[in-house]
Amino acid sequence: MALTRCAPGTLGPALGAENLFQCAILAGDHDFMDKIALITGASRGIGAATALLAARQGWAVAVNYQGNQAAADAVVQQIRAAGGTALTVQANVADEAQVLAMFATVDAQLGRVTALVNNAGVVDVPARVDEMSTERLRRMFDINVIGSFVCAREAVRRMSTQHGGSGGSIVNVSSAASRLGSAHQYVDYAAAKGAIDVLTLGLAREVAAEGIRVNAVRPGLIETDIHASGGLPDRVRDLAHQVPMQRGGTAEEVAEAIVWLMSDASPYTTMSLLEVSGGR
Ligand code: NDP
Repeated sequence: MALTRCAPGTLGPALGAENLFQCAILAGDHDFMDKIALITGASRGIGAATALLAARQGWAVAVNYQGNQAAADAVVQQIRAAGGTALTVQANVADEAQVLAMFATVDAQLGRVTALVNNAGVVDVPARVDEMSTERLRRMFDINVIGSFVCAREAVRRMSTQHGGSGGSIVNVSSAASRLGSAHQYVDYAAAKGAIDVLTLGLAREVAAEGIRVNAVRPGLIETDIHASGGLPDRVRDLAHQVPMQRGGTAEEVAEAIVWLMSDASPYTTMSLLEVSGGR
């Protein structure tokens, strides 16, 4: 495959999908590297913390975002300022064409991914199941489940030794909600994360002999903007008393687990669902 590069600080080549994504190499010139990570939803929160930590550990990082380009650019600039390599890739993970364009951009700008973090995810406002519209349910599953499946599929097509790849690692960001159920708040979200757990268990077995490890982290109550996006900005503080450790977690604490699972430091770990929840 012909590899193309952006000059530092310039927009990337269109690759025939100009309207579906933007790419910006904000890092300096570099050699193509084996540690190439695509992190979805990395403009803020857990994804941003993961991108920053991974870059510090030598990964070239593709920072996916959906709408907040300024925040994604800020993550990339922080990585670059520390001497790392990163690019932004806009895509709605629920839109297959945008996901395909995103992977094509990463192929062209960094090379085949060797790690995928399926982190992009959404909640909705609190509701009982008997109040949920079909539209709400479709959005929840389109982004949180189908988005992760399609990204995982594209990653396997690049990592699997059966497809000429040299292996890799997929980390799915699930939630403690998948075992708690999230009654009276968002059972739809919890069910979507249950599907992510099963994706992890099944795909891990499917590709274990092809050089790919697949794991999930199940964060508990983590201080990020996701709670405000669901109309509950104080959710972590309000529920912290239910956590055995008596506090919410930080995005950085979750990132430590994700980057460990991504890396060669966990070579025999696959099919695991790692709780990062303070005991909740
Ligand atoms: P945030 O709401 O802080 O960040 C969400 C990120 O996902 C943003 O970068 C956003 O990009 C991106 N995003 C949202 N929708 C899409 C989409 N359709 N396509 C691509 N990117 C998208 O979330 P958190 O950091 O809190 O959560 C990250 C993951 O962790 C999620 O999967 C969440 O379910 C999970 N989790 C979080 C917990 C918590 O307490 N915070 C607990 C358990 C699990 P942009 O802003 O550009 O649109």
